[in-house]
Amino acid sequence: MLENGKLFRETQPQTKMLANFCYYYAGLAESFGGETVPVSVPNVVNYTVREPIGVVAAITPWNSPLGLLMWKLCPALAAGNTVIIKPSEVTPVATLELAGLFVEAGYPDGVVNVVTGAGETGEALVAHPQVDKVAFTGSTATGKAIAKSAADHLARVSLELGGKSPNIVFADVDLDNAVNGVVAGVFGATGQTCMAGSRVLVEDSVYDEFAAKLVEKAKTIRLGDPLDPETEMGTVAFKGQYDKVLGYIEIGKEEGAKLLFGGGPPEDPALGKGLYILPTVFGDVDNDMRIAREEIFGPVVCLIRFRDEGDAVRIANDTDFGLAAGVWTDNVARAHRMIGRLRAGTVWVNTYRKTNYATPFGGFKQSGMGRENGLEVMREYTEVKSVWINTGASIADPFNPRA
Ligand code: NAD
Repeated sequence: MLENGKLFRETQPQTKMLANFCYYYAGLAESFGGETVPVSVPNVVNYTVREPIGVVAAITPWNSPLGLLMWKLCPALAAGNTVIIKPSEVTPVATLELAGLFVEAGYPDGVVNVVTGAGETGEALVAHPQVDKVAFTGSTATGKAIAKSAADHLARVSLELGGKSPNIVFADVDLDNAVNGVVAGVFGATGQTCMAGSRVLVEDSVYDEFAAKLVEKAKTIRLGDPLDPETEMGTVAFKGQYDKVLGYIEIGKEEGAKLLFGGGPPEDPALGKGLYILPTVFGDVDNDMRIAREEIFGPVVCLIRFRDEGDAVRIANDTDFGLAAGVWTDNVARAHRMIGRLRAGTVWVNTYRKTNYATPFGGFKQSGMGRENGLEVMREYTEVKSVWINTGASIADPFNPRA
């Protein structure tokens, strides 16, 4: 909270959840393994074993420094790897505090390591030939640079990158519920989440009503000290990010999007010099505008109209990203059709921003490579070895089989 202004009411439940990550992967350490393969070859037993990859470099961002680290650390250790963590230069302290717990718990030296520093430190780690795997969460641009550098020594790479996720509201749904879901999806964590539902696609027939309700709700969001449990939206994490978000708001205005609410810092003197930005709602956004195509990573939502289901799918998928998507509908058949047509690693129906250690999370397209969480992630931290054992009583002479 002190490093990045994350809300107490978010970090408290998140931190409690971190222990559950440890328990879940401790269980998987004993149950995740290879398989016996019934190959059609006589007199052999064939099976696979899962072995650790080796040295894992875990490079993390600033927005959820502990949560996103545990997504990597727990499965990497459960699979038997050692880990070198390179936390974000914006939030190194949370990671160092966590690392202290590993010392306290009696982990052998060298199993969990932390090196602090900025991008150059991350670059040096990725380029090091003795790093066997890089597990990265951060921006798409950095992810591409990492994939290229790791390719030089063919280190395994998993990438959890950015998003511009569509949250799609059909006319058949209870609009008040949808507004609550949309607000939680984009203004939670001050919009600084990879899965933010930052493009809200609304069916034409309810667009005006939905926009009015969303603005009414945005007006009620309580900005304040992140440490105050009553605060609903805190500050942007640091000045560079704050300037970037304000810059995108200016771009939105210049592009001709209609500013329906927010659009800058609040005027409340009680908020002092904090890096606050009002929850900002842009209406009549065209999906070709930069504010609809680029990740803003702040409390800014773009409302986009659609005509029908096909139009919604077209707009939703018309993006470089594919991290997540939300669908708000009471029509179960439509929900299933949409799930099948949306190009995203997670689809939420009538909910948003739910994750769990037991279920895979990751991106299609430029939102990443590989998956975190669940059984799926254990495959990312292991090499598979095939074992062949001959059960025949004798070995035939290969050059004189009849002898
Ligand atoms: P970033 O890419 O700037 O930095 C992430 C980490 O990479 C930091 O530790 C940084 O020091 C390091 N780094 C920077 N340049 C590097 C290089 N060339 N080689 C190796 N390491 C390098 O991202 P950020 O601003 O810290 O985080 C915000 C981004 O993270 C957003 O784009 C967001 O969508 C993404 N994110 C994704 C997920 C997900 O699960 N998909 C979750 C959270 C955040």
